[in-house]
Amino acid sequence: MHITPSRTGGSAAGTDPTTAPYPLLHPFARPAAAQDSFIRIVSGRGAHVVDDSGRRYVDALAGLWYCAAGHGRTEIIEAVTAQLRTLDAFHLFERFSNPPAEALAERLAELAPMPAARVFLTCGGSEAVDTAMKIARLAHAVTGEPERTIIISRSPSYHGVTYGGMSLTGLPANQAGFGPGVGNIVHVGKDDLDAVADVMASKPGRVAAVIAEPVIGAGGVYPPRPGYLTGLRDLCDAHGAFLIMDEVITGFGRLGGWFGAQHFGVRPDLVTFAKAATSGYQPLGGVLIGPAAHEPLRRPDVVLRHGGTYSGHPAACAAALANIAVLETEDLPGRASVIGERLEGGLRAVASTHGLSDVRGHGAMWAVDLPDGPTATEIRDRMLAHGVIVRPLGTSTLAFCPPLVIDLADVDLLSAALAAALSGQ
Ligand code: PLP
Repeated sequence: MHITPSRTGGSAAGTDPTTAPYPLLHPFARPAAAQDSFIRIVSGRGAHVVDDSGRRYVDALAGLWYCAAGHGRTEIIEAVTAQLRTLDAFHLFERFSNPPAEALAERLAELAPMPAARVFLTCGGSEAVDTAMKIARLAHAVTGEPERTIIISRSPSYHGVTYGGMSLTGLPANQAGFGPGVGNIVHVGKDDLDAVADVMASKPGRVAAVIAEPVIGAGGVYPPRPGYLTGLRDLCDAHGAFLIMDEVITGFGRLGGWFGAQHFGVRPDLVTFAKAATSGYQPLGGVLIGPAAHEPLRRPDVVLRHGGTYSGHPAACAAALANIAVLETEDLPGRASVIGERLEGGLRAVASTHGLSDVRGHGAMWAVDLPDGPTATEIRDRMLAHGVIVRPLGTSTLAFCPPLVIDLADVDLLSAALAAALSGQ
């Protein structure tokens, strides 16, 4: 970890003198990277995107795990445009509301993996995770248990970049250099139910919630071991803690059902979502909140002092409603298993010819661990030359999570490009 005090860029010790500084600072990228090292994506259609030199790629990670409905969907674009023409924005703070936010909340409550859910809307996944943490702690506080503040999370896991989401994230590299995180967070191994039970038993009345991704995403794409998620539910019930399922990637069809919770037969207390809620057409996330967490907040003395300016932005809500209609009409959640089976078959064939050390996934969310040799970033770069965008996770894992509209010939291209890249092409 090295932080240079330079204000001018190239002249200070430790900065890269070969690259001129330029205004845009990219997330999860080296600030020293040259501007021309980025691939400028300019258009998209279906499962494909095109860069500014006209090169076409299969978008094998659905952008950043979000573009379930595919690019260029006129239904969604027109819904957003129509909404902006009618009302550009109006907030939800007391005592205002707007119709798209109300309609979206109703629709989400119907789809939710728990009965009688209420819905809090945010601009993305990290904010949704922070909201879930705060609501979990607040619900305990107003029921007379303010000391229930511990949140148990898993390693590896990814829950975002705000201080709350970063602190819950079980990837130490994402915390390095950012100073102290949020307190009262305990990490346990991703499959280790005994460790969860130990924390609960050793800190009676202190655990507010457990947070878990149904399938760990950016932490490496790890499906749950059989019985793990139901085991978490049982432990939460036994010890009075909430179960938060972080469905920012798995929500809206990625695993086959609307939410991973239904898919794995688990009833969560809170569900965080974002990404495929709008397929990326507008930034939107939120939290589905079951009665155990929202009923306590209905006490007359409680004011929910939480929310952002753009919580329930009408254009984002219009995008989500139109996107959900597309997913439903075309049964895109139903395509997840079709895509997944074809992709798994292709990746396992590459494993047998090129010695991948692991192939794993669930629904339409897959990863491979590479053999010794070129890093995941190097193989990703070679795959770009074959017209396929995948995402490296760490140094030796590549993730695949294509739009649910991808056709099977393009699914086959993903493993063909991987095989070619591993062969040095
Ligand atoms: N939670 C999970 C499971 C995620 O995968 C992500 C993003 O990848 C987040 C939270 C954070 O979402 P955002 O990047 O929209 O803030």
